[in-house]
Amino acid sequence: MSEHLNYIGGAWIAAQAGGTFERRNPADQGDLVGVFPASTAADAASAVAAVKRSCGNWATLDPQARAGVLDKAADLILTRLESLAQELTREEGKILSAATQEWRRTAANFRLYAGEALRTRGETFPEAGKGLVCSIREPVGIVLAITPWNFPVSIPSRKIAPALATGNGVIYKPSEVTPLAGQRLVEILLEAGLPAGVIALIQGRGQDLGEPLITSDAVGAVTFTGSYATGCLIHRLAGPDKRLQLEMGGKNPCIVLQDADPARAAEIAATGSFSLTGQACTATSRVLIVGDIYEEVVRQIVARAKAFKIGNGLDPSVTMGPLASEAQYRRVREMIEVGMTEGLKLAFPLREPQPALPAGGYFVTPTVFIDVPKESRLAREEIFGPVVCVSRVESYAQALEYANSVDYGLAASIVTRDLSRALSFARDIDAGIVKVNSATGGVGLSAPFGGIKHSSNQTYKEQAGHGVMDFYTRTKTVYLAS
Ligand code: ADP
Repeated sequence: MSEHLNYIGGAWIAAQAGGTFERRNPADQGDLVGVFPASTAADAASAVAAVKRSCGNWATLDPQARAGVLDKAADLILTRLESLAQELTREEGKILSAATQEWRRTAANFRLYAGEALRTRGETFPEAGKGLVCSIREPVGIVLAITPWNFPVSIPSRKIAPALATGNGVIYKPSEVTPLAGQRLVEILLEAGLPAGVIALIQGRGQDLGEPLITSDAVGAVTFTGSYATGCLIHRLAGPDKRLQLEMGGKNPCIVLQDADPARAAEIAATGSFSLTGQACTATSRVLIVGDIYEEVVRQIVARAKAFKIGNGLDPSVTMGPLASEAQYRRVREMIEVGMTEGLKLAFPLREPQPALPAGGYFVTPTVFIDVPKESRLAREEIFGPVVCVSRVESYAQALEYANSVDYGLAASIVTRDLSRALSFARDIDAGIVKVNSATGGVGLSAPFGGIKHSSNQTYKEQAGHGVMDFYTRTKTVYLAS
């Protein structure tokens, strides 16, 4: 059995109260991935004090040295990609190709923000007289990163790398569903030369240790990805003095217009809905089809749902892994039940309970509900599993009305050959990410990422893109007179 520790003040240590929790493989509950510290408020206080003591030197270090650490971390990831990916599949459940892709993206994030360390700059401003007015950028101090399990290394790297690049100290709270992935990220940074104490890794449930971290005066910025309910709580706790970045999910539509090629439309809809077992905040969960291609697109989405081989993602022939946790499994099963109780029509699987699935893991069959009315709970609430609601709509205008009728606004796609429609969609849709003829999931390395409505808070919503470094630095305006 492997016992793991927190990393606080340059040392690997147990939780002060001595508590632990287990993480098991979601594809095989008999496989214990590890035992981790169940941290509490006392550990949170130590983490804050330790990073506060150590992060000053990091801020004044030559930016090239900071960039060097991030670059080296990217190198280390690529040299051990295979074993890292296998471990990620074992812990989170995603299939091996997706786990490999995620670690590659993580290396790319480290590389990207190594470059940003060298590009941090201020400005000068015209003023009367012979003096000079200029702005300089400083780190915010300590950045608290609270992260989810569905991309347990690429999402944290997108937060930790820019924070470190600009000279901040970091307190990192991985999801309790993927603690080992979080630990690996920290180990790699330390091996790459990150000075001891600049980062603290604190494992456990957010409910047990989040508040003292979020409310600490020493924490200058909180960056969070997770559920809307937790995001709202963090927003209330953080108060006005801190920078806050919240990314909180989606209910993403894919609109198919009648001029679309049905095969292409089904591929885009099914890829968006079922990749990563539907566990992406940018996953498609509603498909809105205009006109008489409805039956054909549905038929082809069902064919794609049927074709998945479900099982342990370490088997290279498997194309859909399990849900990541028991809580996820319960939630997705409950939402399928809601659909059945509401009397929704199932196009696949054709009967409940579902066809036989591998034993011992949190497996579900990809599920396609059809003719789903706009008011259905399934069409409105985030499900976070391989369950898609297909609706027939009469026109583009009605598709747009359906698409915009939910509380979220993260990603949206349209499948059409009509360029002017695609352009009006980009303007009309309530979403931060708009895809034309591609799936809602999958985002660029350096393009802005963030949503509107319940999907993100609107200050500092962009993660990546031109504005991203603004979150991790603050500006001081200096007036110089001779
Ligand atoms: P999910 O249900 O998808 O796991 P959560 O929002 O519960 O989403 O979790 C995302 C991250 O937020 C995890 O790291 C989790 O531990 C953390 N978290 C959950 N509740 C709190 C809280 N009350 N305070 C701080 N962090 C929290």
